[in-house]
Amino acid sequence: MGVTTKGDELIRATAQEGMVRLICARTTELAGRARELHGTWPVPTAALGRALTAAALLGALQKNDEKMTLRILGDGPLGAVVAQGDAKGRVRGYVQHPELELPPTAEGKLDVGGAVGRQGHIHVTRDMGLKEAYTGSAELVSGEIAEDLTRYFLISEQTPSAVALGVLVDVDGSVMSAGGFMLQLMPGADDTMIDQLEARIARIGPISQYWSTGKNACDLMEDLLEGMEPKVLASYQPEYFCGCDRERVAVLLKSLGADELADMRETQGGAEVCCHFCSQAHYFGPDELQAWEQELRCKAE
Ligand SMILES: [Zn+2]
Repeated sequence: MGVTTKGDELIRATAQEGMVRLICARTTELAGRARELHGTWPVPTAALGRALTAAALLGALQKNDEKMTLRILGDGPLGAVVAQGDAKGRVRGYVQHPELELPPTAEGKLDVGGAVGRQGHIHVTRDMGLKEAYTGSAELVSGEIAEDLTRYFLISEQTPSAVALGVLVDVDGSVMSAGGFMLQLMPGADDTMIDQLEARIARIGPISQYWSTGKNACDLMEDLLEGMEPKVLASYQPEYFCGCDRERVAVLLKSLGADELADMRETQGGAEVCCHFCSQAHYFGPDELQAWEQELRCKAE
């Protein structure tokens, strides 16, 4: 169908009169951008790329300004993996230990499961821009992220799903390709349909290598949903976008209170806050901190 062989893309579709829901995405560029920003080594590059792809897929289920945050807290040496995505395809994320090296698995693959850990939890928070946010959780299965997310959907949202996430890292450490899909069954889906989808998923093979044959997201949709009357509901380009700005960081700093600000001013001569998501440093000088302290003390009186 399509002719695009480069660039990130995401498709949200339904099939079989709404009984099947599919979101699929090629995320090579955004996974590569994340690697540049965070200076990740191969295993963390793969873990972060998978989590960001998942965030793009989850974000596609949201409306307007809603945001999804995925937190994978396993007992492995990588530490926390955090990724956020919204309905506009903007994703951002980080891993706690970007410079981590692990031996390959017995199959010669990057050991994402070993890095994340097999004990722990996956948390998915849906932030609707109001005061309250909804968080669902599930125990980790393998730390490979896709399986963990599949279990999360079953346990926490009672939705049978198939999730595939893959990042192919080149010998020089750069991202060769990345992508994933999420296939969900709505009530009413029958066993024949499930068997058919399972066979197609198996035929597709590892998602990280799917694009190397020149295929795009539209081809992936066709390969999965052919003959099931797929309908594209949305299609757009996901991207790595942080959106942190000095003013928001300032609000965060002020919330620490006047005493804390005074302490930073006296001991560090100012405050420097480095954004977890994009590594940008936001600096605030002593005069600025002092002005806030006065402002906060006035308010308190
Ligand atoms: Zn940032």
